[in-house]
Amino acid sequence: MSGSESEIMVTISDVLEFLFCPRFIYFIHCLDIPQHEEQRYKVLKGRDVHEKRRTTNIDYARKKIDCVRKERQVFIAAKEHHIKGIADEVLFLGDGTAAPLEYKFAEYKDRIFKTYKYQLVLQALMIAENYDVEVNRGYICYTRSNNLVKQIDFKKRDFDKGIEIIMDILEVLEKCFYPEKTKDTIKCVDCCYRNICV
Ligand code: SF4
Repeated sequence: MSGSESEIMVTISDVLEFLFCPRFIYFIHCLDIPQHEEQRYKVLKGRDVHEKRRTTNIDYARKKIDCVRKERQVFIAAKEHHIKGIADEVLFLGDGTAAPLEYKFAEYKDRIFKTYKYQLVLQALMIAENYDVEVNRGYICYTRSNNLVKQIDFKKRDFDKGIEIIMDILEVLEKCFYPEKTKDTIKCVDCCYRNICV
């Protein structure tokens, strides 16, 4: 159980914004000040992937992962966890579990970003709730590293942290709680909210 009676559904986009800087969703949803499109952060370039994917080998998963079936571009709403969004792919694996797979229009640079990880963790929660199946790992396909696929194994603490992130976002959306600034102040330099963010 997520522990909230809220009717609000957090989107995966909200989560990505929140992880980049917790204040983004406050400015966007509580003050209704949209970001300037050209300044949106790099993670949202994931949109490009939808174009890119047309030219990538979408059968990679069968070769590298024990995938017996997959669904593509799956919209999932998980009421229990107050989260909704689209999974690039839901893979059904030979061991009876399932796993989300996300494409990133990026190079792999020796570490997996927190945003990528928790996107997968929350998709795992959504898949588990909707398909009533165990989800204990997820995959990222880095399209700019020759479709390198990285596996992330989820631990209980990852799911706990994912649920905590949703609760923190709900607090902002429901109560217009003004969250802390990002600790990574380099992000403030070209942020469209820097003049009102005090
Ligand atoms: S100025 Fe910095 S703390 Fe404020 S919203 Fe932008 S990135 Fe976040």
